[in-house]
Amino acid sequence: MEKHTFTAEVQELLNLMVHSLYSQKDIFLRELVSNSSDALDRLRLEGLTEPSILPDGELEIRLEVDKAARTLAISDNGIGMSREEVVTNIGTIARSGSAEFLAALKEKQKADGEGGGAATADLIGQFGVGFYSTFMAADRIILTTRRAGTDAGTRWESSGDGSYTLDDADRPQAGTTVLLHLKTVDEEDGLEDYTDTFVLKEIVKKYSDFVAHPIRMLVERQEPVLDNAGAPVKGVLPKTVTEDETLNSMKAIWTRSRSEVSDDEYHEFFRHISHDWQDPVSTISAGMEGTFNARILLFIPAKAPFDLYQRERVTKGVQLYVKRVHIMDDWKALLPEWLRFLKGVIDCEDLSLNVSREILQHDRQVKAIRTFAIKKTLDAIERLKKDKPDAMRTVWTEFGAVLKEGLATPNEFRDRLLNLVHCESSRGEGSTSLSDYVERMANGQEALYYLGGASLDAVRNSPHLESFTSKGIEVLFFTDPVDEFWLQHGLTFDDKQIVSVSQGEIDLGKDEKKPEKAKDSSDDAKFDGLLQALRTHLQDDIKDVRLSGRLTSSPACLVGDKDDMSPQLEAMMRQMGQVPPKNKRILEINPDHSFIKRLRAMHEADSKTAALATYAQLLHGQAILAEGGTLPDPGAYSRIVMEVANQAVAADSVSEEPDTTADEAPQPES
Ligand code: ADP
Repeated sequence: MEKHTFTAEVQELLNLMVHSLYSQKDIFLRELVSNSSDALDRLRLEGLTEPSILPDGELEIRLEVDKAARTLAISDNGIGMSREEVVTNIGTIARSGSAEFLAALKEKQKADGEGGGAATADLIGQFGVGFYSTFMAADRIILTTRRAGTDAGTRWESSGDGSYTLDDADRPQAGTTVLLHLKTVDEEDGLEDYTDTFVLKEIVKKYSDFVAHPIRMLVERQEPVLDNAGAPVKGVLPKTVTEDETLNSMKAIWTRSRSEVSDDEYHEFFRHISHDWQDPVSTISAGMEGTFNARILLFIPAKAPFDLYQRERVTKGVQLYVKRVHIMDDWKALLPEWLRFLKGVIDCEDLSLNVSREILQHDRQVKAIRTFAIKKTLDAIERLKKDKPDAMRTVWTEFGAVLKEGLATPNEFRDRLLNLVHCESSRGEGSTSLSDYVERMANGQEALYYLGGASLDAVRNSPHLESFTSKGIEVLFFTDPVDEFWLQHGLTFDDKQIVSVSQGEIDLGKDEKKPEKAKDSSDDAKFDGLLQALRTHLQDDIKDVRLSGRLTSSPACLVGDKDDMSPQLEAMMRQMGQVPPKNKRILEINPDHSFIKRLRAMHEADSKTAALATYAQLLHGQAILAEGGTLPDPGAYSRIVMEVANQAVAADSVSEEPDTTADEAPQPES
């Protein structure tokens, strides 16, 4: 026998459970049944390719009580665990939900002050917290398990006091049994008598009715003794018969029509499949009939899982069922990546139970069901947008960036997705949809304007906005990394181009009343010499220098040609370890800015002056910084800034005493 200690997080969790003030302790049964149900699903799945590991009898979950010993056992003949699996699954926090629970708890305790017992209780109810919640009802737990396909059984025991023991165990059948030594009944504290079959039946009905495997228990019943005619014999006490009873209806909730199922039942099911503690923002239940038949029950969660952007995701998404039998958790053939936040079930009538991932990818039926599921989901989100703006905001905050991935790949749903897009804008009044933006557009504005950038702060203060702001033209802000990918595709909205204000030539003069001071070409020609000099000084970094139509107060900004890669996209490629193609940008200067005017004068006075090279570098670096970019050589740039600042200070203080400290400073002894 080995003794182990729990990891610190588990100890923390156990401690909470043991001393929990949470009043509905009976959720522990829901958690154990749910674990057993998952274990049975996994066994059935593995059994498809390896039938020898399947048990002779039916897959089932069994409750057994011993009133005298005050124990309750929950058993399944599912996949079981190896000794190593017991250590990782039960001894450490294997599940995201538990880690999230602890994080949420700490937040809440900080907000409520220490010792927030109520806060803990509240959160336990919301989270469930899996296996560990068993310690709310039991003071000693013995788990015996044997992994299907192996002979070795393992016994795990703990009293929730920081350590557990591991031992070998004799277990004739694969599967898992969790034996609880129950705490004393204390109804005030929410502890009911879990050896009472009536109590157990109620709990199973309440939380686990839809579990797809039978939950069975031996139930005693009083039966009158009957005579030959079938009438009760008078004066003879009824006899006690013990019968095996299935406690759950196993009725797959997704096969029932929406009107038959309450929101509470849907939410309980959502919790069962997702381990998510918040109610979903939308429940999508629909049936597809015709050539192919299927039922879908999908949920849009209220919160993104922690691993939404991880390649190897552990949280479950949508499960595939065939004729009410769980086949796999792999949703990839059933839904596009941009709907990976959905939870739920898709149950197909006409597929084979042996269907493989490879077949799924090419199956016509699956394609039809996939399109159906996507349409129903978009319908639901569009309904939220129309009827429940708050819920829509939640969906967009949590999953907008994922939905936008759908815009970056060709598909038939792009127009509908574009209609869902929300973003901040230069109007500064929170987020806007594209259609609202179009409605606010002034007569004569032909395109939707946007500015992409790494953050809202960077775009809000970007020089690229200046002439738009001064002419009262609203600019959309796109600051999610994914935006760069779809904005490249030249999509149109409402037959209008979506145009970057930092790419291509912008001439706002033409659709507007003429700008205050029309620059005629002879004015522009005065800058030719300066432009040429700047081009020469910056030729390594810049592909052109030209006069700008988009600046009012800044001296310069950087822009790209219409089809150039944006600097954000370049930065992202670098982050992903790729080398972006060398892409030089264009420096635009503002001929009305005093600095530019002075440079022109300086160049006119002496076209060979060395100072111009320094100022060219200064201007270029300043344009990078102003748009929130990263300087290629920050050290070199800060030396230039110091040099120029030093000259400026020197020019200001010429009348003062010359600095002689250097001459008087003591020389280091040699
Ligand atoms: P969760 O079930 O949410 O993952 P738990 O703490 O309840 O979290 O369980 C942790 C892990 O232990 C499970 O993910 C599973 O791998 C394993 N486990 C628990 N109960 C069983 C069981 N009856 N059969 C097989 N594995 C189980």
